[in-house]
This record gives sequence, structure tokens and C-alpha cells, in this order.
Amino acid sequence: MAVKKIIIAIDGHSSCGKSTMAKSLAQELGYVYIDSGAMYRVVTLYALRNGLINNGVPDTKKIIGELKNIKITFKWDELAGKNTTFLNGENVEEEIRRLEVSQNVSPISTIAEVRHEMVKQQRENGKNKGIVMDGRDIGTVVFPDAELKIFMTASPEIRAQRRFDELNQKGVEVDFAEILENVEGRDQIDSNRKVSPLKKADDALILDNSNLTREQQLKWTLERVKEKTEGK
Ligand code: C5P
Repeated sequence: MAVKKIIIAIDGHSSCGKSTMAKSLAQELGYVYIDSGAMYRVVTLYALRNGLINNGVPDTKKIIGELKNIKITFKWDELAGKNTTFLNGENVEEEIRRLEVSQNVSPISTIAEVRHEMVKQQRENGKNKGIVMDGRDIGTVVFPDAELKIFMTASPEIRAQRRFDELNQKGVEVDFAEILENVEGRDQIDSNRKVSPLKKADDALILDNSNLTREQQLKWTLERVKEKTEGK
């Protein structure tokens, strides 16, 4: 009997390890993984490069007009064991993780037309199921019928520390206070925006990973997947 393929929606706060978990889960299950945050980051990078954000304020009208010129694709990098994000065929994986992009992405993701376009593309990716997608509105808006929804969180300090370590490891010099401010600022905007605010779907399971290792989180989630696919 073929194993039932499902849609797994992982939402939660910034920098709480959603992508890491979603990636491992997809690998473990042989599912497609889509990082929806990367898509908002690509739009932000495009806007920054083209001078469409001034002092943190996006030129909404122009950005909406440019959406048709922004083609976002993902390619699985076998060697690195992760997805690589492309903007119009250019590998921008590293660039979209920079602090400048993180600092400007939340205002971009409040633009309704931007969200509309991203959601359209995200749903397209999920039409054959067998997908893990992480973001802020996956279980509430993109796939309200997802079979498994997980809402991940951890304290702001722990999340800032993880992001700090990650950037440090890559040799990027960063200030902890600045990172913490960014994490808290993004929570604030993401949770309070008018369009698709970050909130737990009623049927999502909460995973607070403040004190859990990656292995523990993966194990817990795989057990939940098993329950859904084997109907236990
Ligand atoms: O997940 P990541 O931190 O890379 O996402 C970057 C930003 O993109 C978030 O802070 C949020 O503003 C936005 N986002 C969103 N909806 C999603 C995924 C990300 O609004 N589904």
C-alpha cells in the first residue's frame, strides 16, 4: 500500500529553527521543502537593489508593479544538503540572509499584493502534497487544510542567540543587541499586520523548542507525522 502523502505546515516566530526542522523533516520523508520566508526575502532583496525601499519605507506601488519581473525558484543542492534560492536565475541564497534584508523584510511582507502573489506560488508547489512548508501563515492561509500543522516558538533571547551564532559561524560580524532588536521587531510586525498576521491555527500543535535539541524536535515531529499518515 502506498504511504499517504500529506501537507505539513510549520509556522512560528522568527529564528526559532523552523527552516532547520522543516528541512530535516522533508529529507527524512522524501518530501519537497519550501521556505516561504525566502520568497519574501527575495522580493525584499530585489526592492533594495532597485532603490525601492527608502529608510525602511517600501515604495509599495512600484514594488507591486515589479512583481511580474521577480521570478523565484528553488533548487536542491545535493552537496550542501539544502535548498538554494534563485532570483531570476541568480543564486541569492547567501544574500537574502543578510541583516539588511532581515531588517527590511517585514514591511515588505505586509503588502497585500506581495502576499497574494507569494501565496499563489506556494499553493502551486503544494498541489501534489508530499510537501513541508515553513513560514508565518502556512497553516492559517496558504494551506488551511494541511493534515499536520505545527506552531514553533522559543524565547526571543534564545532565538537571537541562535541567529547570532549562525551569522558568527559564517564570519559575519554582528552585534547581539541588534539581532535581538530585529527578532523582537519582526515578531511585533508579523503578529500585528492587517493581512495574514502570524497566529497559531486553531488546529496547530505547539512546539516550544527553547530547551529541545534538534534531534528531539525531529523525533517528536516524525511521531506526529506517523500518527497522521498511519491514522493512529
Ligand atoms: O522565515 P524568515 O525569518 O526567513 O522570514 C522572513 C520574513 O518574511 C518574516 O519576518 C516575515 O515578515 C515574512 N514572512 C511572512 N510570511 C511567511 C514567511 C515569511 O510574512 N509565510
